[in-house]
Amino acid sequence: MSKGFRTISIHCSKCRTLLYKYYKGGTGGLVKCFEDRIAEDHTKGDLICPKCGQEFARLRMIQNKRAHKIIQGKVYTKGMTRK
Ligand SMILES: [Zn+2]
Repeated sequence: MSKGFRTISIHCSKCRTLLYKYYKGGTGGLVKCFEDRIAEDHTKGDLICPKCGQEFARLRMIQNKRAHKIIQGKVYTKGMTRK
């Protein structure tokens, strides 16, 4: 991965299950996940938490790429700050 990207963990806000590991660019908050940057997918690919059943994202096409638009408050992230 190019410089400026880091791997973050995306967790369900309700039951804390790990949903994705994701290569994130930039410094802003997480708004969407491009499918081609998901490093590990712990879901069934249906945008629903596999443990508690909460829907956490909606599928969108952004710049002709499949993206998962995060529903605010449904997930939390770890690893956003550089150490
Ligand atoms: Zn959950």
